[in-house]
Amino acid sequence: MPRIVRFEDMLGLLKPSDKMPVLFLGHGNPLYAITDNVFAKNWRKLGDRLPKPQAVLCISAHWETRGTTLVHVGKQPKTIHDFYGFPQAMFDVQYPAPGAPDIAQKTVDLLVNHHGEESMEWGLDHGAWAVLRHLFPEADVPVFQLSIDMSLSLADQYELAKELTQLRHQGVLIVGSGNVVHNLRQVDMQGKTKDWAIEFDVRFAELLAKGDHKALTDMSAWGTLFRQAHPTHEHYSPAIYLAALTNAQDELAFFNDQMDMGSISMRSFISL
Ligand code: ZN
Repeated sequence: MPRIVRFEDMLGLLKPSDKMPVLFLGHGNPLYAITDNVFAKNWRKLGDRLPKPQAVLCISAHWETRGTTLVHVGKQPKTIHDFYGFPQAMFDVQYPAPGAPDIAQKTVDLLVNHHGEESMEWGLDHGAWAVLRHLFPEADVPVFQLSIDMSLSLADQYELAKELTQLRHQGVLIVGSGNVVHNLRQVDMQGKTKDWAIEFDVRFAELLAKGDHKALTDMSAWGTLFRQAHPTHEHYSPAIYLAALTNAQDELAFFNDQMDMGSISMRSFISL
């Protein structure tokens, strides 16, 4: 079972080391990329304390594939504005971090038994840059994305993610970006948080804290609660990938553990 520590205490534990932390961030409203808000405040605080990685591997809810896991191996990933109906300022954002072709290629090799393939498509979607521009505002750390194979069950996504473990020890910071609860149909800017959203969020945290990863990936065990929290589950999958990269000897801290807009959980975790 991981040892649970307060977020502030975890910040104190972050030191240059061969072993990088792993990080799951609830990204929520795309506007948090450019606004001053309570969630971004913690992303910045964390960015100030993180040991500088060789590269960031980002697993974002917004790059879905089927039957394959693509790894972006380009030298200069482009900034993708994968949304509409947002202010021009959102379309003006550029996140010009370089890619990490060598480490990305190594990542493809790690996924040889899981249909991993190198790819020059994609770049950095808003799930990646919305948080990275707060974590590393200078865009000076190489970044590459890995897609989520949505044809796999959560249990199989979990097994695939385990293959990435060794990157932690090679100076790669693995960042998942999604949401522990994500139901856009039930978003209500003024309304109160839905009971089922709180129930899912709290149960997720309890299971992760207990190290009961099997229960996290067992959709049927969640019953009807699962589809309430995730009508589609691409925002949940990154949390599963990152849960797979934590281990029982780690320290684990939750932060930004608040519900937003009635049906979005901003809960984030870091494990070291
Ligand atoms: Zn999203």
